[in-house]
Amino acid sequence: MPPFDMVDLVRAKRDGLELSAEQIAWLVANYTAGVVADEQMAALAMAIFFQGMSPDELAALTSGMVASGEALDLSGLSRPTVDKHSTGGVGDKVSLVLAPLMAYFGAAVPQLSGRGLGHTGGTLDKLEAIPGWRSQLSTSELLDQLETVGCAICAAGAALAPADRKLYALRDVTGTVESIPLIASSIMSKKIAEGTSALVLDVKVGSGAFMDRRERAVELAHAMVGIGHRAGIKVSALLTAMDVPLGRAVGNAVEVAEAVAALEGHGPPDLVEVTVALAQVMLELAGLEGDPRLALGTGAAMPTWRAMVAAQGGDPDAPLPGPRLTEVVPAARTGVVVRLEARAVGTAAWRLGAGRARKEDDVSPSAGVICLAKPGDYVEKGQPVMELRTDEPLRLGRAREALHGALEVTEGDAPTAVPAPLVLERVG
Ligand code: URA
Repeated sequence: MPPFDMVDLVRAKRDGLELSAEQIAWLVANYTAGVVADEQMAALAMAIFFQGMSPDELAALTSGMVASGEALDLSGLSRPTVDKHSTGGVGDKVSLVLAPLMAYFGAAVPQLSGRGLGHTGGTLDKLEAIPGWRSQLSTSELLDQLETVGCAICAAGAALAPADRKLYALRDVTGTVESIPLIASSIMSKKIAEGTSALVLDVKVGSGAFMDRRERAVELAHAMVGIGHRAGIKVSALLTAMDVPLGRAVGNAVEVAEAVAALEGHGPPDLVEVTVALAQVMLELAGLEGDPRLALGTGAAMPTWRAMVAAQGGDPDAPLPGPRLTEVVPAARTGVVVRLEARAVGTAAWRLGAGRARKEDDVSPSAGVICLAKPGDYVEKGQPVMELRTDEPLRLGRAREALHGALEVTEGDAPTAVPAPLVLERVG
């Protein structure tokens, strides 16, 4: 006889009552084992969507998901562990720069990453544009690389928080993805299972982000920081703006090239600003010293990038794949660019082949968009403002459609726009 009846749990949550830690541990374990049915879990997810969860419930849900699989033990490493998670943005190649940068300062960065779905790209998809690079590492390879190189960006194994994988797939088809407690516990369960002692969260807010409203982003940040603290991890979150693509490159190979440029000391200012802000918090949380802006400016972390790529079978000197076809988008008028919609650019890159619509789709390493003009830039009518890259000509039409109205140019002949702040606030 099971200790609880799932229908009672669903009714309780539906009516706004709090579930106990024992009830939540029971339901996560039994959902993972297939005893609790999908339809009951779907009903509970919808009840959580409307009723929310208390901090105690959130902590119990997260630890249930961590306990559903195998957690990594990084305590034997000689370096302090610190990781970063981004809620996802367009042109967000920060991880590629930040991991070797933090390793250069003496940290171990265990970036267990996922693939992209929809208009935001996945870190693994980007790195796979490097000839020979592989995302799969065994636990002993990962530990070895973290000790010797100081960073690894690799695929999270199937044993990491399997309850989250199952619940996420269910949320995806039941309209319950956009629930703050469910997002917070999903993200944090994977980071806690990964074994990092410190974590910085880059919570993106804006039209190109998962959270387009600042209040919701702050709420998500507080929920994740709270879960982390209860699990004994040092966590802070930065809210960063995601209305405009980060940097100029959106896609896979093009983003790797831009990340390498940033590591060599000539990255675009917005990418450098977000990377430096996150690195400063990571240094503080890990108890390390360093000047991230100086290190980037002098190319100090390049050898670490090269070592990380080579340790995972990649050739850091190999040319990155180029597209079969490029097409430029001309400016419709002369003036100053005042808006460039991140979501539209992300969607265009995705339609050109850089992203996938279904989990099992392949992505093109060479597809993407280069933003030749960004807010604040002066452009003349007819001047190229975007370059579209693809291997398949038929993809161009829908990409052009996505970009319709995405770039706004005002009348005038001098740049007047004051750049909006990128780092909005810190939580935790
Ligand atoms: N990313 C995750 O890992 N989980 C969510 O629920 C949303 C984004």
